[in-house]
Amino acid sequence: MADRDGVIWYDGKLVPWRDANTHVLTHTLHYGMGVFEGVRAYPTSAGPAVFRLDAHVDRLFRSAHIMGMAMPYDKETVREAILASVRENGLESAYIRPMAFYGSEGMGLRADKLKVHLIVAAWAWGAYLGDEALERGIRIKTSSFNRHHVNVTLCKAKTNGSYMNSMLALREAQQCGCDEALLLDTEGYVAEGSGENIFIVRNGVLLTPELTAALEGITRETIMELAGEIGVPVREKRITRDEVYIADEAFFSGTAAEITPIRELDFRPIGLGHRGPITERLQTLYFEQVHGRRKTHPEWVTPVGEA
Ligand code: PMP
Repeated sequence: MADRDGVIWYDGKLVPWRDANTHVLTHTLHYGMGVFEGVRAYPTSAGPAVFRLDAHVDRLFRSAHIMGMAMPYDKETVREAILASVRENGLESAYIRPMAFYGSEGMGLRADKLKVHLIVAAWAWGAYLGDEALERGIRIKTSSFNRHHVNVTLCKAKTNGSYMNSMLALREAQQCGCDEALLLDTEGYVAEGSGENIFIVRNGVLLTPELTAALEGITRETIMELAGEIGVPVREKRITRDEVYIADEAFFSGTAAEITPIRELDFRPIGLGHRGPITERLQTLYFEQVHGRRKTHPEWVTPVGEA
């Protein structure tokens, strides 16, 4: 990753990719307190465009607020940095990673004297779980690791450190021959995937866990809106793992994972064991929306502009 051409926005400047370095005593590297986003840009008729730019910028600032990190730039600067990261790298489609992290001014847990840095990197990244996964669906396994308790790490913030839990769960699922993990909350109810929110369909109703232990996914919100537009009722409620076993359909949502059907949980096929019809409709609608092919929600699609 470090050795490639292009530029990275780093503390207000676009620097050559290979020079976007930081010291080994960078505080966030040691203790994990940092906040970040995962954003995508897609090709549209108006050129490459960032999907849900404002929602991602807002969540980044909310994460920093929750963590008590003073953001060193205003929202408009971060917005422009995200657009520039795609534009200046000449990318048609991109995954974009803004991240705020503490510098190397001191070790120990007191963060009051530390500088907050901000980077925005962008690169071409295809389907997170592979193209085949988008069509055929994936096999997932309930994790032996619980999702964070709301009073352990704060689940509304997208923080670097919280992904240690995601990685433990994902690695375990992969070692069991599955593609992804399903994490339960500390009370045993379905929370989310290692980097995705979950939806199930039962009797024509779209169900998703309430946002207690799960991240407030922007794709989740988008899907709920799109479902409403095509008359699919949506309910947020506590979901048990056996409710997923007997669901008609299930899928993960996320900026990276997009809409990935789930065809199996804990070695039990879900529904017909392949992508279900409501999942497919929502997936199609989502891809039309991100590519700016729908008339609705033009505010969700922000062209990066000419280089
Ligand atoms: N949950 C977790 C743990 C995630 O990492 C992500 C990806 N950011 C999501 C849910 C989905 O969020 P979004 O749709 O905003 O990408």
